[in-house]
Amino acid sequence: MVGAVGDKKDFPSETVINLPGVEKVMPLNKPYKLASRELKDTPTIVRIGGVPIGGQGLAVIAGPCAVESEEQLLATARAVKAAGAHLLRGGAYKPRTSPYSFQGLGEEGLKLLSLARKEVGLPVITEVVDTRDVELVAQHVDALQIGSRNMQNFALLKEAGASGKPIVLKRGLSATIEEWLLAAEYILTTGNSQVVLCERGIRTFEPSARFTLDLTAVAVVKENTHLPIIVDPSHTTGNWRWVLPMAKAVVAAGADGLMIEVHPDPARALSDGAQSLHPETFDRLMGEVAPVALAVGRSLVLRDKIMPSPCFQAESLAL
Ligand code: PEP
Ligand code: MN
Repeated sequence: MVGAVGDKKDFPSETVINLPGVEKVMPLNKPYKLASRELKDTPTIVRIGGVPIGGQGLAVIAGPCAVESEEQLLATARAVKAAGAHLLRGGAYKPRTSPYSFQGLGEEGLKLLSLARKEVGLPVITEVVDTRDVELVAQHVDALQIGSRNMQNFALLKEAGASGKPIVLKRGLSATIEEWLLAAEYILTTGNSQVVLCERGIRTFEPSARFTLDLTAVAVVKENTHLPIIVDPSHTTGNWRWVLPMAKAVVAAGADGLMIEVHPDPARALSDGAQSLHPETFDRLMGEVAPVALAVGRSLVLRDKIMPSPCFQAESLAL
């Protein structure tokens, strides 16, 4: 199959249909072309530092909202790895609502992420918020995150795509699924096929949680695109107590992975402490998510870790 994108009126369908070897010419009806299942029906598996996202196994990205210090990052990295996480996250450039809030350590934070990768052995991901930083950020990490607030920063999408690094593209706070997939299309048009979508809650009239989890998005995205989708229940809920139940819900719905904020001392976190899990709670989450994954035909391989008892119970139930 050959996909051609561009202006439909410039496409010489009459000529193409008569070329040797051409069976049929079909229009792609979705506004997003490269991201569409019409073009590619098999799921794309994105690899971040060797970790597959979109295959049979679930991928779990965990770590602090922001990199605060070497001690904080390494403690978190060791704890999330021990609990079975596959990738480490941590913000060096924070897109904060208020200019007076902690903005991140910048380049120093990137160096600490590189150090954590080396010391702990997990691939790392961080958010890039400015086109001018893409090159530097790409030198230090295995994947770039485009945050919710920048989902339609088209210059940033193109620059990040051109870096060739895998990209985790978060859904804008008020973006429709179609707008989100068109944002992914901007990255794909740079020739970079390594895009992971991340649902992180949307703005609705409901004020009890920080955002409203659009669980339907998991099913809708799966039907319309071959790109993998993960969910971030931390930013969605804004409250650590609701992270675990929502993590289980999204895995049951078919998400390809999770992004979870973890901090060794959430009460003292410089950002998003209220939604950050203590390492022990994260360990519990991994243990409780594993049997849900199993129940829906997925696996959660808890790297470097013996499966905790709830998983064994579920396995024996499944047998
Ligand atoms: C984050 O992951 O640190 C973050 C800021 O998330 P979002 O862009 O979803 O708000
Ligand atoms: Mn955060």
